[in-house]
Order: sequence, then C-alpha cells, then structure tokens
Amino acid sequence: MDRHRLVIIGSGPAGFTAAIYAARANLQPVLYEGFLSGPSGGQLMITTEVENYPGFPDGILGPKLMENFRSQAKRFGTTILTEDVESIDLSKRPFFIKGSQTHLLADSLIIATGATAKRLDVDGTRDGEFWQKGVTACAVCDGAAPIFRNKPLFVIGGGDSAVEEAIFLTKYASRVYIVHRRDSLRASKIMAARAMKNPKIEILWNRELHKVMGDQIVRKVILQNVLDHQSEERDAGGVFFAIGHQPNTAFLQGQLTLNGAQYIAVKKGTTCTSKAGVFAAGDVQDPVYRQAISAAGTGCMAALDAERYLSKKGIA
Ligand code: NAP
Repeated sequence: MDRHRLVIIGSGPAGFTAAIYAARANLQPVLYEGFLSGPSGGQLMITTEVENYPGFPDGILGPKLMENFRSQAKRFGTTILTEDVESIDLSKRPFFIKGSQTHLLADSLIIATGATAKRLDVDGTRDGEFWQKGVTACAVCDGAAPIFRNKPLFVIGGGDSAVEEAIFLTKYASRVYIVHRRDSLRASKIMAARAMKNPKIEILWNRELHKVMGDQIVRKVILQNVLDHQSEERDAGGVFFAIGHQPNTAFLQGQLTLNGAQYIAVKKGTTCTSKAGVFAAGDVQDPVYRQAISAAGTGCMAALDAERYLSKKGIA
C-alpha cells in the first residue's frame, strides 16, 4: 500500500491552501477532493460572485476561484484523487485512509472536510425549485446579487448568524424579516439588540416558513404562526436559511475529540487535534467565522503544523 507523508481530505479553500503550502515544502501531498460527497471546491461552488476575497477587486465567481485554487495546488505537485474517503483508522501509525477506490497510508493528515449549511425541506426551496434562484443559505455570499436589490428578504433562524445575515442584507433589501420559530432570539444579547434597533429589520416571532412561491424567481412566502397555525402570505424577493451548519465529521467515527456542536476541537491558536499528526483546517473546526479567507488561513496553518510535526519525527 502506498505510504505518503501528508494526506489532505477536503477540497475547499482550506484543503487546497494546505496543499499549496505542503507541495511547495516538498511534502508531495495527496488530496482527496471527494466525488459523491459534494462538488470539488466546497461551498464556494454553490455561490455566484465572491466580492470579499482579497486580491480580486472586481470580484470573482466562486467556481472560478476554486478552479484557481486547484490549479495552483496541482502546479506545485499535489496529487488529487477524485473519490470519497469512506473511513480512516487513526488507531495505528501510519494512519490508514480508505477511499472509495484507493487505500493509502499517511504519516500525517489534514482534515478539511468543511461544513454543510443546513436547509429546511419546505415546498419551493428544494433543488430544481427556487434553491439558488432566490433561496440560499449564505447571505454574505449571495446577498448582493441584483435579484435581491430593493426587495423584502426573509432570513430564517434566530441565532447570531440570522441576525448577522439580516444586518448584512439591510444594505440591499427594501426590508428584512427575521422569521423565528420562538418568541426570543438565540442570538447573543448584543446581536439581538442590533437587530431590534435596526429600522429596516422586523422580527416575525413564532413563525415558520411553510412555502416559497414565484415564477422565474421568488415572489412570495407563506409563513405559519406556530401558536395559532394561521398562515400568512407575504411578498418576498429572497429567502436565506441561517439555521446553523453541520460540520462534516461523521466519517471520523469518534476517533477525534469534537466539541458539543460536532466540530473538530483544535488546540487554541493551532490546527492540532486530539491526535498528534492529525490537523484540522477550515469550517470543519470553525463554528464562528466560516469564511473562505479564514478557511484558507487555517489551511496554511495546518500545512505548517504538519511540516513541523513531520520534521520533528524526522519524516519531512
Ligand atoms: P445557532 O446558534 O445554532 O442558531 C440556529 C438558529 O436556527 C436557532 O435560532 C434555531 O432556533 C434556528 N433553527 C434551527 N433549526 C431550525 C428549524 N428546523 N426550523 C426553524 N429554525 C431553526 O447557529 P448560528 O446562528 O449559525 O450560530 C452558530 C455559532 O456561531 C454560534 O455559536 C454563534 O454564536 C456563532 N456565530 C457568531 C457570530 C458573531 O458573533 N458575529 C456570527 C455568526 C455565528 P432555536 O433558537 O429555536 O433553536
């Protein structure tokens, strides 16, 4: 079985940045980009214009940005395997990685499998309906698109993300509604106060999204009051889910310490996990920032941490 000094699992900004740094350090990394588990490139593949990634003053399309990341990683000699990792065994060294087609041994491992924004399974929001045609799960990625300009926009959720996204959307929307299923926000007090103070934001308490309707784009939402079950129809230009993220950690099967929300726990200020030689980068270990640029930053850190680990072991 082939043995490699560094294997990277994940192909978003974190995984590819780790690969670029590791490849330039002559570690000849192998990167799994996944096949059935989601598009290579991660969450930026499902967005349009990225305007906040530094270095692109005119913006860049998410898929194009990730194509650039990928070619840069390849240019320095990263081997990219287009297959899903089914399981890993961290109980022995080198670590064992079982891909859907290949089996590898790795002296060190970077996990950068990201997180998936949760969506509700509601009529009108699914793939082939209005998903990505006015219904999204990332206001920061998609909110500035022309279809949302001067329209009433609906953010679903009551946590910090919902409030942050609602505030962000006030720059573009005619009005922003936070639709929350309870009568108090989960968001921190300071964030909640900002939402309440903002004249463009209205919180619709005790409501759930029942249906999204439109033609080519979103035109209406139907909300349901959870207390009296009354439905109301409102004009809408967009719906933004902000109901949390699910880190992609199930395949680890308890071999690394996770925090309460199932993100990989890392030692503060590093990418070191509970297992020496295993590093975590990007959204899979970040419940707070979750931006492409912060993911890329931790990808760089993970490559440097892995290089130091290997060199201490005399393997690099
Ligand atoms: P979160 O705190 O888990 O909040 C998710 C929200 O979505 C909750 O209000 C929840 O309602 C609602 N929700 C979940 N499932 C739902 C469903 N099926 N239908 C309707 N509503 C549903 O997630 P988050 O807001 O993404 O925040 C995650 C973490 O990141 C938190 O620790 C947060 O503090 C942090 N964060 C911080 C900032 C900041 O400080 N600037 C910004 C963003 C995120 P319930 O309240 O009823 O459970």
